Amino acid sequence: MVKKVGFVGLGIMGLPMAGNLLKVGYELCVYDVVPTAVEQAVAQGATAAASPKEVAQNSEVIITMLPSEAIAEQVILGSDGLVEGMAPGAAVVDMSTISPIGAKKIAAALKEKGLNMIDAPVSGGDVGAKEASLSIMAGGDEATFQKVLPLLQKMGKNVNLVGDSGAGQVSKACNQIVVGLAIAAVAEALVFAKKNGVDPAKVRNALLGGFAQSRVLELHGQRMLDRNFTPGGKVHLHKKDTEIAVEAAKQLGIYLPCNALLSQLWNSVTAMGGSQWDHSSIVKCLEMLSNTEVTPG
Ligand code: NAD
Repeated sequence: MVKKVGFVGLGIMGLPMAGNLLKVGYELCVYDVVPTAVEQAVAQGATAAASPKEVAQNSEVIITMLPSEAIAEQVILGSDGLVEGMAPGAAVVDMSTISPIGAKKIAAALKEKGLNMIDAPVSGGDVGAKEASLSIMAGGDEATFQKVLPLLQKMGKNVNLVGDSGAGQVSKACNQIVVGLAIAAVAEALVFAKKNGVDPAKVRNALLGGFAQSRVLELHGQRMLDRNFTPGGKVHLHKKDTEIAVEAAKQLGIYLPCNALLSQLWNSVTAMGGSQWDHSSIVKCLEMLSNTEVTPG
């Protein structure tokens, strides 16, 4: 059974996920480029390492939760990266959201050295990370998945091996299409209510009992009404996820019109200065175009 676990990337998601592993007794060795993030993990019982390589030297399984594909690749395969410190048979579980092609490429590079990787992106946001209720979508081989499953079950509730390497990231791209379009739909509905002179808070309540009910309506709808755009899920991260799907659609030669529109909405929020805002802030660009604000009342 795995006991010694590495964790690289202690941000909005990674820190609470690492905390949940510490709570149930795993020995955690951690690294982040931001010293205060490391200090917070150490305060919960983790040991700090000076590089990803050093994390790997102290771990049987290493989890990464990083902001982009370029950074994940650097941390895993780069100089002073995990690959330089991993023992034969060790495994990386990359829980960052990156492209399916990127995930396959990194897994193949590790495989050549006798090392394993599972791509295991998540859904559920910072709330799911704190509550250990994330949905985890995994891709890779069955044996490695079974080895890391007990760990994943301490961070999430709905943990599925969807297919081979990259399949977890394909699932996550599907997830982000649904979530992003749901955020845009909720925003559009609340703007519509407000411009009709109907209280958007009452509309949200009315919709929560019917077929339009969703976690997005519940949580992000409330955020829009509260004007709470502190992340949460940052616009620049969801923008990256939508672009992963746009790029994959281009390569496959398929038509994803709603996802393409979503990509333009992220561009618009970004142009408004919102790259670090919560992704519910899509409502701000729709409000601007309709000259309104979806405050209750
Ligand atoms: P974040 O920006 O809060 O955290 C990323 C962390 O990685 C930061 O602490 C940063 O300092 C660290 N980091 C950056 N470069 C590094 C490096 N070279 N070495 C070590 N650490 C480094 O982002 P987040 O919201 O925690 O998201 C992390 C990943 O999870 C992203 O891929 C995102 O798309 C995905 N995700 C986020 C959410 C969400 O709601 N926030 C939900 C699901 C999935």
